[in-house]
Amino acid sequence: MDASTVRRWLELAAAAVGERREELTALDAAIGDADHGANMDRGFQAVLAKLAELPADAPPGRVLSTAGGTLVSTVGGASGPLWGSALRRAGRSLGDASSFGEAELVAALEAALAAVVELGGAGPGDKTMVDALVPAVRGMRDCLQDGWELSAAIDAAARGAEAGARLTAPMRAVRGRASYLGERSIGHQDPGATSAALVIDALARTVREGG
Ligand code: ADP
Ligand code: MG
Repeated sequence: MDASTVRRWLELAAAAVGERREELTALDAAIGDADHGANMDRGFQAVLAKLAELPADAPPGRVLSTAGGTLVSTVGGASGPLWGSALRRAGRSLGDASSFGEAELVAALEAALAAVVELGGAGPGDKTMVDALVPAVRGMRDCLQDGWELSAAIDAAARGAEAGARLTAPMRAVRGRASYLGERSIGHQDPGATSAALVIDALARTVREGG
């Protein structure tokens, strides 16, 4: 995998977030301030514009770091700094290498998750994007350790993220804006977990296409 893998991932993520923008906003309308679809769409569109300016030979780590920086500076909501730090940290984890393998990909995803947890302080069960990212990263790492092919492992990760997002519905939010609702946040799927599952699914599709 190389810089074109990362670029393709971000393109597919941007497209998915754009297509599901209204649904993400509706989820955020129920337990937040109805801007999550707009935030993610604006952020990922800005990422695509920024990456078009980046030299074609920029290494994958730099592509990710640039994307992260762009999200931090263009998305006002909580998801901007959280996704921004995640991608920046993943980029730093990949370093200056011109290509990367399965182990580096897992390490980058773990670094991204660690950045989200460090910045937001959320743990599993708090009804946030962490509830989609934890099963994704864990699932992928465990499947690879068990000797699965990368494309099968990343598919398992995407399914884990989607299941994780769905499982946020019965949770009570204790982080972010949704926590202001307390008990009333129960019964609604978390918007950030939902978009996180879309981003992981975009990665799975990228890998399935052959990186
Ligand atoms: P805002 O809440 O500022 O309007 P968004 O609507 O774009 O920002 O994003 C909301 C999502 O961000 C939530 O659904 C949740 O998944 C995620 N989120 C909020 N706070 C945290 C946190 N402290 N840690 C992890 N994720 C969080
Ligand atoms: Mg919001």
